[in-house]
Amino acid sequence: MLEFKAAVLHSAGAALQIERIRLTGVGPNEVLVKIHAAGVCHTDWEAQQGRHLAPRPLILGHEGAGVVVEVGKSVSRKRVGEHVVLSAYPSCGGCFYCERHLPMLCEPVTQGHRKSRLPDGSSRLRLGDEEIGHFLSISSFAEYVVVPSKGAVQISANMPLDLACLLGCAVITGAGAALRIAEVQANDTVCIIGCGAVGLNVVQGARMAGAGVIVASDTDQTRLKMALELGATHVVKADEEDVVSVMRHESGGRGADHSFETAGHEATLQAAFEASRVGGNVIILSKMDAHRMVNLRFGSLSGERRIRRSALGGARGGEDLPMLAHAYLDGRLKLEEMVTSRRPLSHVNEALDAAGSGSVIRTVLTM
Ligand SMILES: [Zn+2]
Ligand SMILES: [Zn+2]
Repeated sequence: MLEFKAAVLHSAGAALQIERIRLTGVGPNEVLVKIHAAGVCHTDWEAQQGRHLAPRPLILGHEGAGVVVEVGKSVSRKRVGEHVVLSAYPSCGGCFYCERHLPMLCEPVTQGHRKSRLPDGSSRLRLGDEEIGHFLSISSFAEYVVVPSKGAVQISANMPLDLACLLGCAVITGAGAALRIAEVQANDTVCIIGCGAVGLNVVQGARMAGAGVIVASDTDQTRLKMALELGATHVVKADEEDVVSVMRHESGGRGADHSFETAGHEATLQAAFEASRVGGNVIILSKMDAHRMVNLRFGSLSGERRIRRSALGGARGGEDLPMLAHAYLDGRLKLEEMVTSRRPLSHVNEALDAAGSGSVIRTVLTM
C-alpha cells in the first residue's frame, strides 16, 4: 500500500514531525488526491496549540489542492486526473441538518471532525500500527490525502494549484460570507473588522458584489494597504481611529448594511455590532474560547438586526469553489497577493509559528 510523507501532531503544543504514513486503502466512496499545495491557516496553529478538541495524533492542514490519482470502487474512474480543491464539509445530504439545508452542520461530518476521523468514523492513516487522525476531513500537510469523493471539488485545470489551495478556507469563508450569508448588493455599505486572510476575502467578496462603501479596519498598516488593493474604499487604523464613527460617517449616520467581525476579541465584536445599522446584518466569522463570556450593549443587538455566526461563510463547496476559481481566472478575485511565502513541507513548523503570530497572510506549503 502507498506510503507518503506527512506532518503529524503527536501532542498539544509539540512541533509537527514529518513521518512516513501508510495508507490502509481508499474506501468505496473516497478518492486519493496527490497534494500539490496546502495553505497554513490560523486554525491549524490553534489545533497545534491544543485549542481544538480533535484528538491527536493527527495530520494537520485543511486548505489543499491537488490531482485525483485513485478512486474508490463506487466513484467514477473519470475522476482520475481531475484538479481539485479540498472541502472540509463533504456533507452527507441525508442527516437532520442536511435535510434542513444546513450542510455545515452535517452530523457525520461534524462528528468526524470532533473525533479526527473521516465522516464514516474511521481513519485510513497509520504510523506503524498506530491510527493517525484526519483533521477536518482533510489533513493536507501531506503528500497525499484520502477524502470522501464529495470533499474533493473539481476546478478548472487552468487554475494554478498553489493558489487554488487558498480557496478551501480563507477565500470561501470571507467571500462566501459576503456573497452567501449577507448577500451584499450593489451600492451597499460594508464594514469589516479585522483584515487577516478571512477579512481580506470579505473585502473581495463585497467588491465582487458591487458594494458602494467598504470600510476595513485593523491595527496593522500592511494589512490595511492590502485591504485597499483588494477593494476597500476606506481603511481605519483601529488603534488610532474609531471604526464605528468612520462607518457611521460613510453611511449617512445609519451604520453599515453589513458588518463583519473576523478578529476574535471582545472589543472587535462590540465594534462590529455598534458599526451595524438597525435592520442590518452582523456576521461573526472569528473564533473565541466557547466558554468565554462577552459583554455587548443590548441596544447594539436590537432593531431587527440579523445576527449570524459562521465557520465557513455559509459556503457550498461543490458550487462555490469552482465559481471562485473562475473568478480568479477572469480577474475578479485576487489570490497571489494573499501568499506571503511558499515553503516546502519540511518548513511546516516555521509556517505555523508565522500563522500564530499573525505576521503573514498565508504561507503556502508546496509538496
Ligand atoms: Zn482555515
Ligand atoms: Zn448530513
